[in-house]
Amino acid sequence: MQSGEFILGLNGKVALVFGVASEDSIAWAICQRLAQAGCKLYLGYQKRFMSRIFQLKDKLPEIAGFYPLDVASDQTTAEFFTEFSKENPNLKVDIMVHAIGFAPRECFDRHILFVDDDAINTAITISANSLQRIMRHAMPHLNKKSSTITLTYAASTRFVPNYGVMSIAKAALESWTRELACQLGPDGHRLNAISSGPIKTIAAGGIPGFDKILDHVEENSPLRRNVNQDDVAGCTVWLASELSSGVTGQCIHVDAGYSSTMVPGSIMGDD
Ligand code: NAD
Repeated sequence: MQSGEFILGLNGKVALVFGVASEDSIAWAICQRLAQAGCKLYLGYQKRFMSRIFQLKDKLPEIAGFYPLDVASDQTTAEFFTEFSKENPNLKVDIMVHAIGFAPRECFDRHILFVDDDAINTAITISANSLQRIMRHAMPHLNKKSSTITLTYAASTRFVPNYGVMSIAKAALESWTRELACQLGPDGHRLNAISSGPIKTIAAGGIPGFDKILDHVEENSPLRRNVNQDDVAGCTVWLASELSSGVTGQCIHVDAGYSSTMVPGSIMGDD
């Protein structure tokens, strides 16, 4: 065992990762880092990304299984866990990564007053309530001291142009994280959210004006850069590991410090 593996204590741990759609997915970087740390990986993928998942799985031998997952309904979520347990009887899960987000187009580009109920419900069901849904079905398969990490965005607490209904979904997701952490904590389970800065992925491509947000963060964040998938993956591995054993119910910003600012130093021309 390498010393890094010893410190993290993740060697041989079992991780379920939900949200790989492409090589750009934040969840894919998380898979790579968890694999490096010695984890065995099982993926839940959306059927429309099946061909990409088949290509990606050959790049990471630590992927031991992958099964379709659609969190839109309770039944389709249950089907993932049925498949997982059928193929891996008695296998217990130590880590779960919930990197799932979706909102219909009108949630981003229609005036907030006129987004219809169906679109709002879809965004909140898939992007927020799915954390509770996944946890419920996962419980029989989780080891004590499990660690679950979800991905959120700072528009949950502050206005970001064009993020629209997704802001409300992310606020709900963070509330779910706290509520689940408090109610499952007595049994040893931990849940935390990582609030990532903007990163170009398939999901981000649906947000009008996303490139302007990237430019703004690069110019104004304390580190004067954007974060990338690997920045988020590093924090995820820490939250998955025993090194963060006292941390639960938290929302941790991995955003080059942007969320800590109100008036950026860049306006004084300090570069
Ligand atoms: P991505 O498009 O690579 O990943 C989104 C994932 O959600 C995809 O794998 C997709 O299959 C999955 N998904 C959508 N609907 C689903 C459903 N019904 N059932 C199962 N899976 C479903 O994009 P990403 O940026 O890596 O997004 C991952 C997470 O990170 C999302 O929650 C996103 O909101 C969050 N996030 C992203 C950014 C960013 O700028 N990219 C910033 C902060 C937070």
